Amino acid sequence: MPHLDPEQLSLLALYDDWDDPGAREHLLACPQCAADYAALRRTVEAVKTTPDTSRLSVPGPQVWAGIHRELGLGESLREDPLAAEAPEEGGTKEAGTKEAGAAPGAMPASGDVPPSNVVPLSDRTSGVKTKGARTRGAWWQRPGTWLATAAAAVLVVFGANWAFNRPPQPQELAATQLTPLAQHSAAGSAKVVEAADGSRSLQVSLDKDEAKGYQEVWLIAPDLSKLVSLGVMNSTSGTFQVPAGLDLSQYPVVDVSDEPVDGNPAHSSVSIARGTLTT
Ligand SMILES: [Zn+2]
Repeated sequence: MPHLDPEQLSLLALYDDWDDPGAREHLLACPQCAADYAALRRTVEAVKTTPDTSRLSVPGPQVWAGIHRELGLGESLREDPLAAEAPEEGGTKEAGTKEAGAAPGAMPASGDVPPSNVVPLSDRTSGVKTKGARTRGAWWQRPGTWLATAAAAVLVVFGANWAFNRPPQPQELAATQLTPLAQHSAAGSAKVVEAADGSRSLQVSLDKDEAKGYQEVWLIAPDLSKLVSLGVMNSTSGTFQVPAGLDLSQYPVVDVSDEPVDGNPAHSSVSIARGTLTT
């Protein structure tokens, strides 16, 4: 049974009533997908709960400036969207807060409170409440925003999860340029890549097919005394399995030959292009 794909998992995690009985059945049967789902659910629950935004303070303009810079946004988005919510108050927001904070006489009596720049809790709360009321309806106070944020968080979490869990990418072990021989002019490149399971393959590409018969791909010893055929390449590129156990350092020469269709399995001795693999 194939596992659920990221989109299915995200939709199930986001919407309790998402109608996908097959997928829900799979969740019951598959511990791996169930674990992914549980992780996504936790994220959704954490973010979907609409917080009491009356206790959040409005981020200063430098926050948007940072986001704007980091994302390389255009000039039309330069203005702080939160400042835009209350344009008539925008200029005095900072000053108002500072005044409230610095109000003398509001300082708590406790002796171990540093004397300067400390905003008494009561004042701070009331100050922020005022601000919250002023900007009621700002994007971050609308419930829909939190669902969108939850969706975004799910995607981020899933993306991270995916990046950590996906199979390792093929590793390039060796590569070479292929240069034309004798009367030929086809050129290209070849590389050996190792898959996650340790199997190796040779990827060959040439800029044209110059064979009068057909192209065959070989790995050859440096002195040309020994050679291994990897197969036929009917177009300008191909991928060939490298025999397990073949020591590439003993057969580093990649050769593309022109083979007549004559039933003779040996190298025709007509090479089109060649190169020596280096790691
Ligand atoms: Zn599964």
